[in-house]
Amino acid sequence: MLDLQLHTTDSDGTWPWDKVLEHCRQMGLKAFAITDHDTIARRTDILDWARRKNAMAIPGIELSTRENDQSVHLLGYFLDGPLEKLEKRLTFLCDERNVRNKKIIEKLHAIGFNVTEEELKIAAGRATVGRPHIARLLLEKGHVKSISEAFERFLTPGGAAYFSKEELPLKEGIELLQEAGAVTSVAHPGLLKRNPDELEASMRTWRDWGLDAIEAVYPSYSEEQSSFFFRMAGKLGLLMTGGSDFHGENKPHIKIGTGTGGLHVSDALLEPLLERRKQNEHSRA
Ligand code: AMP
Ligand code: ZN
Ligand code: FE
Repeated sequence: MLDLQLHTTDSDGTWPWDKVLEHCRQMGLKAFAITDHDTIARRTDILDWARRKNAMAIPGIELSTRENDQSVHLLGYFLDGPLEKLEKRLTFLCDERNVRNKKIIEKLHAIGFNVTEEELKIAAGRATVGRPHIARLLLEKGHVKSISEAFERFLTPGGAAYFSKEELPLKEGIELLQEAGAVTSVAHPGLLKRNPDELEASMRTWRDWGLDAIEAVYPSYSEEQSSFFFRMAGKLGLLMTGGSDFHGENKPHIKIGTGTGGLHVSDALLEPLLERRKQNEHSRA
């Protein structure tokens, strides 16, 4: 079993990276990837840990991108190329997140909630700050009873304090991650507001832009959805990834490896990804 989408306190998860990795190892997962939002700051630590423990821990990222007026999350794995250009773009995204968080907090203030930028800074530390941090503050202060209530009432599009964040065009994201030596996969494409025909057209375009894979196994997918993505991957020549999207207590119903219980990301998905990693390395050289 694999788990190729895991979040830690380096972005909006609640478990530190090493606790997540250790848990994966003890579960006996064959390979597991940390994919924190818009950061690769932990890459070296993850590689060192993997070497020390002789485990297949993969450094990754979930990059915030946009295509056709919708947010598209782009996963990148391995990252064994030059990283400077990517890091520069990540700094930009991080700065823009701070601008956006300030707007959300001002709006919450205007509605009558007392959440400050200072508190958010303390709560997030050096992490990529996201809406889940703000949701958690609202929860801890007793303004809401759950993270999902915070999202539904305030933080989701249409919610009272929602502001969109800066995202890179998907095409730029794919190129940027590939130059940085990543194998790329679009995260949870089944969550996009697109019907199957639109999804097929999208995936064809993404493949032509150089995308390697799609996330075909995901906790909230129905069996039809999963088999649709399996079929599409075969038809379009895309590889497949899968993951739980674990966020610790910020998504309390999701467990590492098993998602809501029935998730199973097959070991068979790993080899083609490793193969692609090698091929990409050759074409970069
Ligand atoms: P941000 O990066 O600040 O836009 O926050 C996005 C993150 O919020 C996603 O990666 C999800 O983990 C989380 N999220 C989005 N919608 C919800 C929701 N309705 N309930 C809980 N978490 C959510
Ligand atoms: Zn997240
Ligand atoms: Fe995501």
